[in-house]
Amino acid sequence: MRLSKYFLPILKENPSDAQIASHRLMLRAGMIRQAQSGIYSWLPMGYKVLRKLENIVHDEQIRAGHNPMLMPTIQSADLWRESGRYDDYGKEMLRITDRHGRDMLFGPTNEELITDIFRNSVKSYKDLPMTLYHIQWKFRDEVRPRFGVMRGREFLMKDGYNFDLNKEAAMHSYNRHMVSYLRTYERMGMKAIPMRADSGPIGGEDTHEFLVLADTGESEVFFDRNILDLSLGDKEIDYNNWDECASIFKEWTTPYARTDETHNPELFAKIPDERQMTSRGIEVGQIFYFGTKYSESMNAKVSTPNDGEIPVHMGSHGIGVSRMVGAIIEASHDENGIIWPEAVSPFGVGIVNLKQGDDQADLACENLYKSASLLGIDPLYDDRSERAGAKFASMDLIGLPWRITVGPRGLKNGVVELTCRRTGVSEELPPELAMEKLAKVYSKLV
Ligand code: ATP
Ligand code: MG
Repeated sequence: MRLSKYFLPILKENPSDAQIASHRLMLRAGMIRQAQSGIYSWLPMGYKVLRKLENIVHDEQIRAGHNPMLMPTIQSADLWRESGRYDDYGKEMLRITDRHGRDMLFGPTNEELITDIFRNSVKSYKDLPMTLYHIQWKFRDEVRPRFGVMRGREFLMKDGYNFDLNKEAAMHSYNRHMVSYLRTYERMGMKAIPMRADSGPIGGEDTHEFLVLADTGESEVFFDRNILDLSLGDKEIDYNNWDECASIFKEWTTPYARTDETHNPELFAKIPDERQMTSRGIEVGQIFYFGTKYSESMNAKVSTPNDGEIPVHMGSHGIGVSRMVGAIIEASHDENGIIWPEAVSPFGVGIVNLKQGDDQADLACENLYKSASLLGIDPLYDDRSERAGAKFASMDLIGLPWRITVGPRGLKNGVVELTCRRTGVSEELPPELAMEKLAKVYSKLV
């Protein structure tokens, strides 16, 4: 993409209504614009990041054996009356009436709808286990929408639902979700810590939340430092292997890690002092096992060879995809702007032409642009006739992990400058070597 042709409405001033870095930076970097309180338009660069996160989520869900689908945003109130949640949900639910006077709602989550789909098509234990998920916009009329996309009213969520024959099988689904979520966050270049959570109004027996550490997080968190050393790396995982998923689950849930809601000071005090960590965190996902809560109230049963018809065991599992964009920025920025992890960066490299209109510089940039595109590095070429300082400031603000700076002086010596956004370290290299280095960095991600 050429910056001269891209819609990237950068703001020079800090917006006065944005209290936290991610909100400020997403507005300044032209990623989002507020449409109404808690409701945002995703401009091209914000949308690109959102799509990247969605792709990673899809990839890891499909790898775990889950079925992608898409349910509508608008749901019928009758289904929610069946489960008893129509009245329970309260003012957070946006209620709508159609021209025939039928009660509808903008879905805040999808347990009822998916249970309805399941019970209408699945009758036999032979069709289990089954996990269905989608990535769809949700609406919750939050009392205090704030912090930009972190606590919006309309937000994008991946929500998945497992259907199993008994508790044991459902716990495998629970563990499998835990593992697939850990992989998902790692692939996004993030550390998200699973913490024992409170089941709240959804009603559940087992639940964990995933938290990204950041000073601006809404939850207070307490954990054993050791958990920070855990990583799945590129370990191949057999998601059908119950023992393997259970042992990864155990490894990640043994060190103490809890939010303020479940914190137990006595247990925490037993950890050696130097490993007791207190911080703040952003909830970017949650997994639940809730047994037969919905299958009983909504009559989702399967026939079995020995026990007749029995209600299925279920769980639901969510990732806050749009919130994740903000969480990544909260965890990864400096005073000049965003610092994208390579895996989710809107572009792989920024090319800055220091002397637009200079034949040699223009030609060198065009060549770099072409070869980066061919290598799949997805370059953003700043081809505007701006001062060098302004170009650097824009690149720093939008946070591409790498920048190549091209100027007549370097070209005389056959070199361009390759700069890493995170470390600020620059090196002078012939253009081909700079490309080779970037190609290596990005090939590791696939
Ligand atoms: P919270 O406690 O932050 O209100 P929740 O526990 O009600 O969230 P879940 O039902 O667990 O939310 O939804 C799954 C995920 O969706 C959450 O982990 C979070 O990342 C995201 N999410 C929930 N509410 C919002 C919101 N208002 N804006 C953006 N993302 C949200
Ligand atoms: Mg939650």
